[in-house]
Amino acid sequence: MSFEHLGLSDKVLVAVKEVGYTEPTPIQEQAIPHVLAHRDVLGIAQTGTGKTAAFTLPMLTMLEQGRAKARMPRTLILEPTRELAAQVEEEFGKYGQHHKINMALLIGGVSFDDQDAKLSRGVDVLIATPGRLLDHFERGKLLLSGIEILVIDEADRMLDMGFIPDIERICRLIPMTRQTLFFSATMPPEIQRLVDTFLHQPARIEV
Ligand code: AMP
Repeated sequence: MSFEHLGLSDKVLVAVKEVGYTEPTPIQEQAIPHVLAHRDVLGIAQTGTGKTAAFTLPMLTMLEQGRAKARMPRTLILEPTRELAAQVEEEFGKYGQHHKINMALLIGGVSFDDQDAKLSRGVDVLIATPGRLLDHFERGKLLLSGIEILVIDEADRMLDMGFIPDIERICRLIPMTRQTLFFSATMPPEIQRLVDTFLHQPARIEV
């Protein structure tokens, strides 16, 4: 299997080649066509399986159409820790070198004002930890009504860290017309309940 058959844009394929990947990993091969078909995805996968590229590559392809408006991010990726959020931002930057995409990272320990300035310029990809995202929302400086794709990554770690109420709240703030991509290494009952509540007939991929 090659990357060429998954439906990714030419720009993304060029970036993948430059990064040096020769073939998709199993989660990429299975998830990317569903993401591009606007379907919800439940990916049961550990770190190291290539799951980040399984959502970032098709998201980049989809973001080539349309433009971000001020304070209304187009996509949101939730991560349990600052470190993971920063890693995803780095990976997006690596694959998105040929794209004009605006990214913002909303994590604790960094000034609100810098993050706010980015939001005001319009953001295609917002990468956030749940608490800091809600802080910005409560200040009235962030609208979640324009989110086209919501990614919930490392859901079982969110559970361990007590973030499930925040995740539920965020899921309720984003219109149900969104597409949801949900990743977890394990599926304890609390996580299954989240999936049952907030995903719409997801493609289930287990690697
Ligand atoms: P992840 O599971 O997303 O944390 O990815 C693990 C590592 O695999 C990352 O360092 C990626 O750069 C790398 N990776 C992702 N996709 C591929 C691929 N198709 N071929 C080779 N390496 C990859």
